[in-house]
Amino acid sequence: MNSLTLTEEQLRQMIAHASQQAPLEACGLLAGRGSKVEQALEATNQARSASRFVMDPIEQLKAFEWMESSGLDLIGIYHSHPAGPETVSPTDIAESAYEVVHVILAPVGGRWQARGFWIADGTFDEVALRIE
Ligand SMILES: [Zn+2]
Repeated sequence: MNSLTLTEEQLRQMIAHASQQAPLEACGLLAGRGSKVEQALEATNQARSASRFVMDPIEQLKAFEWMESSGLDLIGIYHSHPAGPETVSPTDIAESAYEVVHVILAPVGGRWQARGFWIADGTFDEVALRIE
């Protein structure tokens, strides 16, 4: 996927979630069609960690059921790096379970920013985030 399209509102929602959970990592799912996100779904980081996330499996299951019934697909996963980096970490590569766009939120110069990445074969490429 070359790009992922989000609304301002979805971006604000993810940033609010990341900032609420800091210094712990926040995580969630992005449901949509094609490359367009329709809904950001917040999830609980069961690991309660500042350096990794484990999505609550029950919430994840419910989210998948909701997507199925809404005709949406899982097209992205977002999580935060409250202490950086603003790119993919070795942990993200090791624990990446889905072939979807990974949106990483990190504070850069005191302001939360979002970047998208595609993780495959032990490495990653940037995916442009288009904000509508
Ligand atoms: Zn990460």
